[in-house]
Amino acid sequence: EVIGQTPRILKSGALSQDTYKEFWAKLLLKEVVFKELTNKTKDGKTITIEASANPILDNSGNIIGFLAIQHDVTEKKKLEKIKEEFLSTVSHELRTPLTSMKNITTNILVGVTGEINPKQKRYLSMMNQDIDRLTRLINDLLDMSKIEDGKVILVKKPTDIISLTLILVEKLIPIANSNGINLEFVSNIDKNIINIDRDKIEQIITNLIGNALKFTPNNGKVVVKIDESENEILCSISDTGVGIANSELEKVFDKFYQVGRVEGQGAKGTGLGLPIAKELIKLHGGRIWVESVAGKGSTFHFTIPKENMQK
Ligand code: ADP
Repeated sequence: EVIGQTPRILKSGALSQDTYKEFWAKLLLKEVVFKELTNKTKDGKTITIEASANPILDNSGNIIGFLAIQHDVTEKKKLEKIKEEFLSTVSHELRTPLTSMKNITTNILVGVTGEINPKQKRYLSMMNQDIDRLTRLINDLLDMSKIEDGKVILVKKPTDIISLTLILVEKLIPIANSNGINLEFVSNIDKNIINIDRDKIEQIITNLIGNALKFTPNNGKVVVKIDESENEILCSISDTGVGIANSELEKVFDKFYQVGRVEGQGAKGTGLGLPIAKELIKLHGGRIWVESVAGKGSTFHFTIPKENMQK
């Protein structure tokens, strides 16, 4: 539609004044601008566009123009929406029969239907563990699809991050000890009230400690630490476990990524814990990253900004 014509971006009405101003302000700072917009085609159809604009600089760094690209993503968006709705419906539908399966196996296991022999008990326990794993996977899938849909709204309340973490660590100490791992909490701060979604932060910390315990062998150590800087609370979870190779460090935050996972064996995770943690931390305005030496151990760090701190 634009071949041989003045680009629409320059014609009034092609972009709203506000969008145009926003693009222009960023371009003047020599930044690349990305934005999702809606626009109308010649025959009046509304389309979704991913627009980007790149400043073009001369040798001395002066802006001499810009390159704007508009990409019609209407069809892609439609397919993404169908995929997300499908995932969300299927996950919901799968959860109901799983709950009933869990109740039935548990009842048989505890003897409600009469005595069972050791072999039956072993088989039923295996079944129970797999039901739990499937439930975790479905819950993680639902969480991830809610996050991707932008449907997760944080319910923030002033919360003491120190006591919250301490309680979580204390809850997990028996599990750590039963695996021969020493789990410790360290902090120089007594109390620190920040505005957070308690459930979500609990979910993140539990997941990070759970991973540390899962990937640390007997006689290992896991330390949970909370520090503060002027603007942030910093939480780190260190372990003396298997560690992560440099080439895998970024990938562990990708959906379904499990280092060295071989089908049918090994860690019974979902590969969704870290991507969910990353998104939930992002929603809180914080950062999450990992440092690790393969064979020696890993430290996962995350921050939460203090801007909402109540004194
Ligand atoms: P899951 O634990 O369910 O597999 P996560 O997203 O929580 O999924 O973690 C993804 C992968 O990152 C894990 O499968 C594991 O390979 C690696 N990983 C996470 N935490 C650790 C850790 N503390 N030590 C070593 N590897 C880890």
